[in-house]
Formats: sequence, C-alpha cells, structure tokens
Amino acid sequence: MHAGKRRGLDYTPLFRFLLSRVGAPWNEVHSEAVARLDQQAPIFWMVALRKEDWQEYVRLGESSYFSGLCVDALGLLQRVNPGLGPDSLAPQCSCCTHTFNGVPFTRRFEAP
Ligand SMILES: [Zn+2]
Repeated sequence: MHAGKRRGLDYTPLFRFLLSRVGAPWNEVHSEAVARLDQQAPIFWMVALRKEDWQEYVRLGESSYFSGLCVDALGLLQRVNPGLGPDSLAPQCSCCTHTFNGVPFTRRFEAP
C-alpha cells in the first residue's frame, strides 16, 4: 500500500483483502493485514471484535459499502450478515455509483 496516502478510499484494497479471507482464522488474517499497513486502525473500521460493535455493513468514502466483519466463536473471520448483498441497500443519490463489496447496487435511487 502506498505510504503517505491515508484518505479513506485508499483502504479499498485492505477491505477487499479482508473480504477475501472470510472463513479464515482471524489471527492469521490479522497478522497478514498488519504486515501491509502503517497503522492498524483501518482494519477495525471493517472488523468488529466485540459483539456490541458488530455492524451489518460499513461505508468507505461516499458510496462504497462493504460487509461488516466479525470473529466467530471458533476464531474465524465472518460476515456479520452473510445475506447482505448489492441488492440489499438503496443508493443515497442518483449521481454516484454505489457499490457493495465492489459490486454496483442493483436497486435504483428513489427520491424521498
Ligand atoms: Zn451522488
């Protein structure tokens, strides 16, 4: 990861890495993730270790959504809600391409 760029969107590769390791032992995933980063905080934007912090999804930047992740009783990285996908959420506006785990939303923006 390019050092010196710390704005939110630059963590997309980290989030994609974490997603790709769902089902793997968290301690291994964590060590691998830390090795790529200059700080640990962004890992925990997506991964919640305490149940009270679990989130079904997290947002990175204006319109990039990702699955919220957690660690299960066996110590494996999991999605908080595995049923959530690109058809689950409605876009907040019509001008941006909203994505869920990198896949464009299938629902259209509906004016309130
Ligand atoms: Zn927009």
